[in-house]
Amino acid sequence: MRAAVVGGGPAGLMTALLLARRGVAREVVVWERDREENAGFGVILPPEATELLRRAAPHLADEFAEHVVRWQTTTVEREGDSWTTSATPDLAAIARATLNRLLWQECASAGVILRERVAPRLSALATSYDLVVCADGAGSLADQAGFEVSLEQVGPRYAWLGLDDAVDGLTFLTRPVADGLFMAHAYPYSATASTFLLEGPRAIDPDDIRALFGVRVSTGTGDDTYQWRTFRERTVRPWALGNIVVVGDAAHTTHYSIGHGTYLAFADAEALVDAVAGADTAAGALRDYEALRRPVVEQAQGLGRASAEWFTRAVDELDRPLSRFAASLLTRGGRLVRAHEP
Ligand SMILES: Cc1cc2nc3c(=O)[nH]c(=O)nc-3n(C[C@H](O)[C@H](O)[C@H](O)COP(=O)(O)OP(=O)(O)OC[C@H]3O[C@@H](n4cnc5c(N)ncnc54)[C@H](O)[C@@H]3O)c2cc1C
Repeated sequence: MRAAVVGGGPAGLMTALLLARRGVAREVVVWERDREENAGFGVILPPEATELLRRAAPHLADEFAEHVVRWQTTTVEREGDSWTTSATPDLAAIARATLNRLLWQECASAGVILRERVAPRLSALATSYDLVVCADGAGSLADQAGFEVSLEQVGPRYAWLGLDDAVDGLTFLTRPVADGLFMAHAYPYSATASTFLLEGPRAIDPDDIRALFGVRVSTGTGDDTYQWRTFRERTVRPWALGNIVVVGDAAHTTHYSIGHGTYLAFADAEALVDAVAGADTAAGALRDYEALRRPVVEQAQGLGRASAEWFTRAVDELDRPLSRFAASLLTRGGRLVRAHEP
């Protein structure tokens, strides 16, 4: 089989790696238009992501372990007061650019052909390759290829920012203002850097952020940096048309506040390659892939919506005692078990 993969993010690189390493495809080509894109700083990964990396390539998991940051505490800070718990989920964070670089190197050593440019049109790929994997993120080429796409805005406005400093564990910072609440989710992803994801009722600039939070944020260097956005939950039906299939953010997005997008992308890739490897027909394999993954993704999207909803109405929780506010935050949408409550 010859496989074409559009997009060299977590979904595309993991799919390509598994297709090549397991000998499912004799030729795998990845197109990535912008390897230097580094907006987004760090991402949080659950333990399942490390396990999946280990199944994909044990030494990749070892390298990953050298670059991740783990933390022992979660802190909620409000008006000069803070509440900390050590009953913290086992999460790891890594720079998005580092994760993609490790996967890229692994693909190169597995014999994947890596092309640093915009992919050809899907219609051209679909006639030249047996399998075409759209792993090109939330603005996928699949949107023009007959897939039915719906987008729903969820959660407050946000800006994805960074700090040139490692904060102490996962930290939520709240700053009430006259028209609502600004809230930052900060976590370290290296010894010297943190993600600073800021939500609020309106866009504010870095000087205002400094005045409000006392920190100097970095805005990244990509074209789309320092934009305030509203998260759009993406749903696609079906996940395969002919020999074209969608994976990762091209197939679905899940609100960032549950930190699952990258892991879901990895798990899609693994399920797709498992299905293709064991199938009699490509069409059957792609149906099996969707049947296996869609319920898992829908459940994660439900959690993401509940979490996003909590952050949208967080201002209404502010008059509760800090420990109750923190418990409500950490158990939002039933996400975390009672063991994480104070
Ligand atoms: C604010 C925010 C915070 C987040 N935080 C987390 C987190 O903490 N943990 C987590 O797991 N996830 C998080 N995510 C989600 C995570 O970033 C995505 O789910 C994940 O990157 C999806 O991987 P992907 O490979 O599907 O897509 P992407 O990472 O978007 O990769 C797609 C790639 O395709 C390339 N591409 C696109 N079109 C073309 C083309 N025509 N030709 C060639 N290349 C192309 C792009 O350059 C890009 O590199 C967050 C998302 C947001 C918005």
